[in-house]
Amino acid sequence: MASTDRRHAGVARALRPSTKVLPGQARAHNRSLVLQLLYREGPMSRADIARSTELTRVTISDLVAELIDERFVIEHGPRDESRPGKRATMIDIDRAGHQMIAVDLSGDDAFRAAVVNIGGEVVERCEVPIDGAQGPDAVAQALAVIDDARARASAPLLGIGVGSPGVIDDLGIVRVAVSLGWTDVNLRTAIAERTGLPVTVMNDVNVAVLAEHSFGQIESDDVILVRIGHGVGAGVIVGGVTFRGSRFWDGEIGHVTVGTGEGPLCRCGRSACLEAWVGVPHLTAELEHLSSETERSAFLRDAGAYLGIALAPIVRTLDLTDVVLSGPPELLGGDFLVGAHDTLLERAMVGDPDELSLRMTTLGHDNVLFGAVVLVLSGQLGVS
Ligand SMILES: [Zn+2]
Repeated sequence: MASTDRRHAGVARALRPSTKVLPGQARAHNRSLVLQLLYREGPMSRADIARSTELTRVTISDLVAELIDERFVIEHGPRDESRPGKRATMIDIDRAGHQMIAVDLSGDDAFRAAVVNIGGEVVERCEVPIDGAQGPDAVAQALAVIDDARARASAPLLGIGVGSPGVIDDLGIVRVAVSLGWTDVNLRTAIAERTGLPVTVMNDVNVAVLAEHSFGQIESDDVILVRIGHGVGAGVIVGGVTFRGSRFWDGEIGHVTVGTGEGPLCRCGRSACLEAWVGVPHLTAELEHLSSETERSAFLRDAGAYLGIALAPIVRTLDLTDVVLSGPPELLGGDFLVGAHDTLLERAMVGDPDELSLRMTTLGHDNVLFGAVVLVLSGQLGVS
């Protein structure tokens, strides 16, 4: 497969529907249009749906009948309006009609999963401790948390979305995930064979940025999410499309040298990697030596500045308007954020500070789970 094909596979297509629709795809495309509209605008009458999609009333009536039959949409009572005349029946997403399973394998201690209805509301949560499991044992733990979630589901399941650490290709094969001891693990197939359901697996940070774009408070289509934990990784959406490299190493910025090579020792054996400057273990260890609030504040601002130095060329090159940080808010949410923002504004040649937003995620720990929901909705219903 050519690299250009890969780049347009999967979620990217759903985020920014392709302009050319082949005849055989028209119906699926129109279904997606209707569902996307209802997700974005809330309940609407058939007439309003026809107007907004520029499809005929007849086509909309047929599609809506089909979607009601399949329990993807539902009719509500007439619109509550005081104006005289016949009142329209409202069409809405049938939240109780289907559920999906969202899986977050990015935790340090536990794998988490949630049963989520197709309205995006969490119905059930569960988790399985990792207990240091590696290789096949870690796969077994991942399957265990999915089994647990399936047992809790109370409606037909649309599919499973998984955010996993590591370098993951478009087929859902984990090429490498050091923390879990995985090399060339076909996670998607393992889960699909176990469950018989459609499965999408993607890198956890790429999944998290999808969540910011769909569920977070971002209007922009040009976003980078930087996740800071033991390691540092980034996920990027440019022009509304998930940015993927042909080799799937996109966003792996943790071991980029920041500065001239002088700096804290990194676990990779080199010095002054971004991860060595701003990773949670380094921040926590350094803060333990600082007693005064002034020292702690200055340290965190300096650490944030290193992130700003690393991000400035990326933000400018890709013309990004939103930078979102994900990680412990007590470390990242105050002086660190200020230091990163100041440095970024200065180094990325941003004229108007309003043109560049840098803030913490509003989705907290759930950003991978919600991104996994986006994977299922976009993969199965063509909406995001
Ligand atoms: Zn390193």
